[in-house]
Amino acid sequence: MKYAGLFSGLALLGIAAAVSSTGGLIGQPGFADAAARIKIYSAEKGTDVMSEEVVKTKEEWKKILTPEQFHVLREKGTERPFTGKYATSHEHGVYRCAGCGLDLYRSEDKYESGTGWPSFTKPIAPENIKTETDRSFFATRTEVLCRRCGGHLGHVFDDGPKPTGLRYCMNSAALQFVATK
Ligand SMILES: [Zn+2]
Repeated sequence: MKYAGLFSGLALLGIAAAVSSTGGLIGQPGFADAAARIKIYSAEKGTDVMSEEVVKTKEEWKKILTPEQFHVLREKGTERPFTGKYATSHEHGVYRCAGCGLDLYRSEDKYESGTGWPSFTKPIAPENIKTETDRSFFATRTEVLCRRCGGHLGHVFDDGPKPTGLRYCMNSAALQFVATK
């Protein structure tokens, strides 16, 4: 009886510890909550603003995106070169995420890379994108994603022009252009 009592006591302690550690994780900074608060740059405001990550189910994304946008943004697809609507556009404005509307690139940083995909030397602000190592298709590339909704935008390569030497190779389907003055 003595050992049984000790055992159940320890078991209770174990359960209590598990509950408190799980409970402690919820809402703690650094963990991906359903709508984590993030700091992003707003072209309209000209400064950083607080926003929330955009989290949707596959079904919810399918309702608001075209099949092509869904394939690129949510399935990491790549549009065929020279087919996208922004491959050769030079209008003055801002390119936003087609998924969540986050400002991503400025027309001033767009250049003719000759690849058939809209190419930029830099994002509108480093905090508006995130990058991940992509080892698909037997190559190591750096994937570029929207910081707010996690949508796949394209890849970044180090063969771009000055001043950054970078080529942000984007899919038109992942972008939404908004003309500005
Ligand atoms: Zn987005």
